[in-house]
Amino acid sequence: MKYLVVLFDGMADYPVEQLGGKTPLEYADTPNIDKLAKTATAGLIKTVADGLKPGSDVANLSVLGYNPDDSYTGRSPLEAGSIGIDMKETDVSFRANLVTLTDEPAYEDKTILDYCADDISTEDADVLVKFLAEKLDNEEFKLYSGVSYRHCLIWDKGTLDVGTLTPPHDITGKPIKEYVPTHENAQKLYDLMKKSYELLKDHPLNLERVKKGLRPANSIWLWGEGVRANLMNFKEKFGVKASMISAVDLLKGIGKFSGMNVVEVDGVTGYIDTNFEGKAQAAINEFKNGQDFVYIHVEAPDECGHRNEIDNKPKAISIIDKVILGPVTEYLASTGEDFKVLVTPDHATPLSLKTHTNDPVPFFIYDSRNPKNGVDTFNENTAKETGLFIEVGHTLMEKFINE
Ligand SMILES: [Zn+2]
Repeated sequence: MKYLVVLFDGMADYPVEQLGGKTPLEYADTPNIDKLAKTATAGLIKTVADGLKPGSDVANLSVLGYNPDDSYTGRSPLEAGSIGIDMKETDVSFRANLVTLTDEPAYEDKTILDYCADDISTEDADVLVKFLAEKLDNEEFKLYSGVSYRHCLIWDKGTLDVGTLTPPHDITGKPIKEYVPTHENAQKLYDLMKKSYELLKDHPLNLERVKKGLRPANSIWLWGEGVRANLMNFKEKFGVKASMISAVDLLKGIGKFSGMNVVEVDGVTGYIDTNFEGKAQAAINEFKNGQDFVYIHVEAPDECGHRNEIDNKPKAISIIDKVILGPVTEYLASTGEDFKVLVTPDHATPLSLKTHTNDPVPFFIYDSRNPKNGVDTFNENTAKETGLFIEVGHTLMEKFINE
């Protein structure tokens, strides 16, 4: 038996007026989804319990069968794992965004212009983060260079008791005064942020960026704190050899911590211009190499949701259907071996809200051995109409693999 998960990040949505009152999934051309869904078990699943923040971290852990209550230790540790940092039990890690702040003389008077410094390239970011590390690293704190604007600070024998650290993408365009760390245990973190501005503001690479019309990456912003993640090995948990295919550090980190084979695919961007073919081919290769379970995470629908790109969101869904789901399931069918397919988003990212919600999301499980009376077309409404509702999200993976 082979198991394929195609995770459409942020796919679920509400009806959109400009799409004729349809949801992006309803509007999208999805022949491969619909073909499988006709004989699949479809329903709704609550991937993020009420009261938890509907992040991709918690939601993907749920889909993968991990109870976020006992397996989620923060976002940054998962990313730290992905960029190869081996955290000690006593380390606390923080996401260090490279951001763009305005240039008022006092740090606390600044406004945050951009949480990602114009989507800074990994190459540019690497220069700046290494420069900061040279100047700021000490016995207690170490900075590590990651991907694009997403980097990592490790605090040796640090504490999680640092008050509220605000995600910078939630405060774009706002004065930072209300959001800088003020807790007494967070003073060193705040100092690092202030020092990073002094070091970065006149860095030659930033002067160069401004000349090219790009925003300077003139400060770090610390948030997303957590301790070393402790996920049970996926193979021990479910008895299958698993692979993770994703453009996103967070998912790669989940893959690493759960002992999966994390596949690097060239040209993946996390956006609608990503290398969809490359992901499909990588999945086929993993199956050919003897893996039992492949998780293909595709970020594009989520990004379209965040950016309110009404045309691109259904387009992204159609492309994943055509270029990933179609060819990979065709390959699986061609081998003659039985296989199952799970199609689901992690959470909803409604275009109208430009952010994630806790709404239950539509899913289906196709089992080549066991055709069911499925749904004619698969979307939020038809999934709801089946009446099947998985209220505890992390119980789905067990059903997917063992039923
Ligand atoms: Zn998102």
